Amino acid sequence: MLSEFNFIKRIRDRAANQPSPDLLLGIGDDAAILREREGRETLVTVDLLVEDVDFKLAYAAPRWLGHKALAVSLSDIAAMGGAGRFSLLTLGIPRQSQIFNLKSEIFFDEFFAGYFALAEQHGVALIGGDVSSTPDRLTIDSIVIGHCQAGRAVRRSGARVGDAIYLTGAVGASAAGLKLLIEGARVDEGEESLRQNALRAHLRPEPRVEFGSQIGDLGLAHSMIDVSDGLIQDLAHICEASGVVAIIDFDATPIADEVGLVFAEPESAFEFATSGGEDFELLLTASGDTEAKLFEVAVDCKLKLARIGEIVPADQTLASSPVLLNRGGVIKPLSIRGFDHFRAPAGLTHRSALP
Ligand code: ADP
Ligand code: MG
Repeated sequence: MLSEFNFIKRIRDRAANQPSPDLLLGIGDDAAILREREGRETLVTVDLLVEDVDFKLAYAAPRWLGHKALAVSLSDIAAMGGAGRFSLLTLGIPRQSQIFNLKSEIFFDEFFAGYFALAEQHGVALIGGDVSSTPDRLTIDSIVIGHCQAGRAVRRSGARVGDAIYLTGAVGASAAGLKLLIEGARVDEGEESLRQNALRAHLRPEPRVEFGSQIGDLGLAHSMIDVSDGLIQDLAHICEASGVVAIIDFDATPIADEVGLVFAEPESAFEFATSGGEDFELLLTASGDTEAKLFEVAVDCKLKLARIGEIVPADQTLASSPVLLNRGGVIKPLSIRGFDHFRAPAGLTHRSALP
């Protein structure tokens, strides 16, 4: 029988000996104590993951869920140009799952194996959290605290007319993975295939942690966001916050190979990939002068980087949308589609948008 206190003690034991010079007191007291430092700023973010809304237990091993719970918040810190350093994790555990029984002990051992592997990879220390029970579904609240150099945080509101728009990696693999999962595909960790890559992109995303913090440290971007709600919708967030319009190029926008598994035809593949969410790539705008440096950082981080468009003035267009598509010289507005928790149709319970 595992009590709440033993459950926390296990987490505490796992979190012990996390090397972190700015952590004065971690798990175990009423609050953690962090050391403040001159010359840097603190970034704080939180993501709520609700079973059957943001994830389904049937789709993935708990290890991958633990990874993803931290990955989504590390991605937000990377998108600010900072580096995650501390995390907090709050769990609402369904009574029916009987956290006290052996099965869920194994579940959380696995969950924390995934969580701590990613935390250790990026030098993040788990410093606290909370546990309660829920009547029904598992809920996971993931908080990350990070740092950036003072004045160097990269906001959504900084895009300037004349900026080029860049994207790491490619979009659409995660949405393709979700579509395959809904259609019945399941993970086989031993199998190497495009299909398995798609499932993995959705269930075990790799946040662009190193790239984001280098961009911040070097002051290379005017604006940045992580692609969590769909490329077009996230680009629209930058445009709205910055008071500008974006034109993206159909041929220059990298669509993940995995999208070919679900849409063969280029137009529908493009629409699917740019409105599907949860790619966790970074989307940024920067002056064209810094392009060589940006590509150097991408190479250093072993990431692909593509220049996909440009920022133009909002008043030079009668567009109904802040995001326009250039296809072979013909420019037309794109409708903004992406996931909205409050507008998702009943039955569509996942974060990634599906047409
Ligand atoms: P309190 O009742 O004072 O809020 P708790 O018993 O909830 O204290 O927590 C005791 C300690 O364990 C605190 O340091 C808290 O941050 C930590 N803790 C509780 N739940 C978790 C969790 N899910 N993950 C990490 N640390 C946790
Ligand atoms: Mg207390």
